[in-house]
Amino acid sequence: MIGEYPKFPEFSRSEISERLVPEIRHWALTNGLIMYPPHPDFSQGAVAPTTLYPTPFPRRSFDQAISVQTLYNALYANIAQDRGEWLSKEIASLAEFDPEFTGRLWNLYVQAKEKGISQKLALGVFRSDYLLDVASLEVKQVEFNTVSVSFGGLSTKVGQLHKFLNDTGRYSGDSGQPFYQDEIPVSDSAFLLAKSLAEAVKHFQTNNSITIVAFIVQKGERNVFDQRILEYNLFEHFGIKSIRLTIHEINSKTHVDPDTSRIYYTPSGEEISVVYFRAGYSPSDFVNEQDWQNRLTLETSYAIKAPNLLTQLAGAKKIQQLLTDESILQSFISDASTRRKLGSSFVKIHPMDNSEAGLNARKLALDNPEMFVLKPQREGGGNNIYKRDIPGFLESIPEQDWSGYILMELIKPEPTTDNIVVKADQFAQEPILSELGIFGYVLFDESTIYLNEYAGWLLRSKSSSSDEGGVAAGFGCVDSVVLY
Ligand code: ADP
Ligand code: MG
Repeated sequence: MIGEYPKFPEFSRSEISERLVPEIRHWALTNGLIMYPPHPDFSQGAVAPTTLYPTPFPRRSFDQAISVQTLYNALYANIAQDRGEWLSKEIASLAEFDPEFTGRLWNLYVQAKEKGISQKLALGVFRSDYLLDVASLEVKQVEFNTVSVSFGGLSTKVGQLHKFLNDTGRYSGDSGQPFYQDEIPVSDSAFLLAKSLAEAVKHFQTNNSITIVAFIVQKGERNVFDQRILEYNLFEHFGIKSIRLTIHEINSKTHVDPDTSRIYYTPSGEEISVVYFRAGYSPSDFVNEQDWQNRLTLETSYAIKAPNLLTQLAGAKKIQQLLTDESILQSFISDASTRRKLGSSFVKIHPMDNSEAGLNARKLALDNPEMFVLKPQREGGGNNIYKRDIPGFLESIPEQDWSGYILMELIKPEPTTDNIVVKADQFAQEPILSELGIFGYVLFDESTIYLNEYAGWLLRSKSSSSDEGGVAAGFGCVDSVVLY
């Protein structure tokens, strides 16, 4: 039991369905806490899956996660700066085990380097994800995301929703008083992530007084509104326009000046200063050779990429595993107390290669699979292999391919039993596990970090009976916290 956490309101099923669920729906539809439904009719949004109440989270652990974010930002910027080509070497060898994706991205980077990369600045927009370890009350890192981090927009909305329901007394029955006296913070991620793009625009060198930001998106994306929230914040607070393009559309809707490498949006002729990727992290985002070519065009253009290919590749799970090796971490961070702070958020991650450590891990994976999750070099959910599925999976693939995976100790969070998940026309009280994400951004070139900031947070919850947690994939919901 995680100490004394605030109790949940107690309502009957009929009070929930007749009073609270309609409150959530109206607030969500009015304020854009929405997604497209699984089979989108693009004229209608659906209320995003959410919890009825904020989930209690220890303030100390919440603050711990926030306090390491700028350290992580700097660490990953340093890695992507690729001094000494450590990242290049690691990705080049990883590429062999994942030729269809990591390999192709790596190839694009090599081609871009040969052609010449004119823009030295890169923007990292990151999210570090954690589960709360019940034994130590420390947050432990699940993964570090360096491309297409999502839910920064909806996180602000769900915090506002829960705070509204509390402050207006909706959680208190008829008294009209707030139910929770403890803080229900609202994540500033919708604004701060927009600010990260605005900062990059500000650092972009151009003679044009107006430039635009290109959001690179997936066709048929269901989580459009989360992205739109950033676009509207970008315009409202910073006066910066944005356009949305799929990777497929780059060759028909943009053109590059061959002398300057500057890239323009063809319909308006406006210069694109920042290319912000909310696509390009999965093989299915590239349907033909032209699409790969288009990604290369963006990489060699003068626009600032958020992220560039190296920064994206630095988010490989293999890199996360390597950083848990003290001597590798030390080569990036000389300060021992910084290493200790980061290290307190690590769990053990083993290589699965032919090294001695790798051979030991292979044995662990086969003998004690229930302690582990096996991860390939993919993003976006649905790719991991959990617990007892691991041995059978390993046996089903050639042994030389095992090196492309990492074996990660399972973090043990405690389920929250009294919250209620509201999804489409249903709601259910079920034990949930919550994953805290902390956003951050960093603007850097090969030698210098110009900006390094925290950018808000996100809580996603999922039924504790499912291993995976993707909201867009239908496994989870957006949540917020009540700090205690
Ligand atoms: P993806 O790139 O697909 O998001 P993740 O590494 O984030 O992959 O894993 C997906 C989900 O699996 C996480 O959201 C979490 O619920 C669960 N998970 C991953 N690693 C661990 C771990 N070490 N301990 C417990 N759960 C984990
Ligand atoms: Mg994840």
